[in-house]
Amino acid sequence: MNAEEIKTYRMFINGEWVDAADGGAFDTSEPYTRKVWARIPRARKADADRAVHAAAAALDGPWGKLTASARGLLMFRVADLIARDAEKLARIETRDNGKLISEMRAQVGYLPQYFRYFGGLADKIEGAVLPIDKADTFNYTTHEPLGVCVAITAWNSPLLLAVNKLAPGLAAGNTFVLKPSEFTSASALELAALFHEAGFPPGVVNVVTGFGGEVGAPLVEHPKVAKVAFTGSETGGQRIYETAARDFKHVTLELGGKSANIVFGDANLENAVKGAISGIFAATGQTCVAGSRLLVQQSIHDEFVERLVAFARKARIGDPQLDTTQVGPVTTSPQYEKILDYINIAKAEGAVCRLGGKAATGPEVGVGQFVEPTIFSGVSNSMRIAQEEVFGPVLSVIPFKDEDEAVAIANDSLYGLAAGIWTQDLRRAMAMPKRLKTGIVWVNMYRAVSYMSPFGGYKRSGVGRENGMDAVREYLQTKSVWISTSTETADPFVIR
Ligand code: NAD
Repeated sequence: MNAEEIKTYRMFINGEWVDAADGGAFDTSEPYTRKVWARIPRARKADADRAVHAAAAALDGPWGKLTASARGLLMFRVADLIARDAEKLARIETRDNGKLISEMRAQVGYLPQYFRYFGGLADKIEGAVLPIDKADTFNYTTHEPLGVCVAITAWNSPLLLAVNKLAPGLAAGNTFVLKPSEFTSASALELAALFHEAGFPPGVVNVVTGFGGEVGAPLVEHPKVAKVAFTGSETGGQRIYETAARDFKHVTLELGGKSANIVFGDANLENAVKGAISGIFAATGQTCVAGSRLLVQQSIHDEFVERLVAFARKARIGDPQLDTTQVGPVTTSPQYEKILDYINIAKAEGAVCRLGGKAATGPEVGVGQFVEPTIFSGVSNSMRIAQEEVFGPVLSVIPFKDEDEAVAIANDSLYGLAAGIWTQDLRRAMAMPKRLKTGIVWVNMYRAVSYMSPFGGYKRSGVGRENGMDAVREYLQTKSVWISTSTETADPFVIR
């Protein structure tokens, strides 16, 4: 690609397309070809300030004055525009991130539903009149927006992670500064254009691009920011939580995982094999809910591993823009190195490599940064490969004896994002979810998400929830209003 073909993006602040204040920019490249395809503004503190001020002004301006129904209608318009541009958005994300075009079509095709669901909720955020236990007193509650929210996202599902925050937060009446990952900024800027076209007032949705330390940190530190909604690494989450605490900002933190996908001897094994595959090789394993620990009951262990290896061996690896590809490239080069390091760690720990175990090469992967789908058996839960998040196509198979042992192993993790259970026993299917210390449990299915169903983790996997009614509550604060209907005022020295 020559210089003329490189697309130059601008940021979106206060309804205008702008460069970074100091003119800085950085390149973004395609994971598949490793070629630079776009230039992205490199924002810093001055740009963060500008965006937060725009978002604060919008709260007091036309946005703050809109009725909740009118807010919802604007969100419906965005939904329609995303649906109109779905193929374009999917292609851009596939190019920038390396996600499969088939996965992106499904994901972008689903995004309008988030804006329809939360747009529909905007005018159903009702307070209450309380039958208050004080004479001659009227008491009611209202739920108000928090104010300026900063959304900071990871690179693995840029559009979905942004929409998870924007849709409930806007429905609740907040304004936003969105900072996408420096590895995958393009789709957020494309999304900003749709908010603009839909007629959102200036400053309601701002998108600034750049690096965490340079523009992310000033956003989180900004005194006018009321909430930070973050998806990313555990260390990033810790830093943001600590900084936000200084000003008592609200937070939602969606962090890492080491989820257990548990296959019992009584499972439908054909389905369970597919469930295990979708848990770890879909999205090249670069998903927070990856079922990276596969717990298999001893009675079926050897047969199951054979079937799994046979299935995974056939996965079609290659160009993510092809409809037929099943495993795409690793999105970032640091992540690629990290996955290969973990493979070496697993080997050194004594895990048995049953499939893959190295970088993928060959004509179908070209110069792309690919890792072969990798399966380790003979893993014990105390090994690093079973305790630490790899965020790649690397599966650890751990045998277990019975239900109690499966629960003990599954819960023996610092994380608690998701778990899968494969069984045909009704009692077990009903009893197991309660025993697992995770925010999400799938039974005889894996990796399903919906705008309706709360998403988030226990323990180190995070704080708060996205999706569903829970998500709207995360963007609201409750006000209690007291009105005396008495003609007299009570004794001022005694609490009423
Ligand atoms: P990361 O923490 O490196 O970066 C996430 C975002 O934070 C980026 O936009 C980055 O620029 C920004 N950032 C970094 N330092 C910052 C700072 N000091 N202040 C403000 N912002 C800062 O994470 P990543 O590598 O992009 O993402 C991978 C991680 O995300 C994995 O651990 C994965 O499990 C997690 N993840 C979680 C979920 C979930 O919903 N639970 C979903 C997807 C990804």
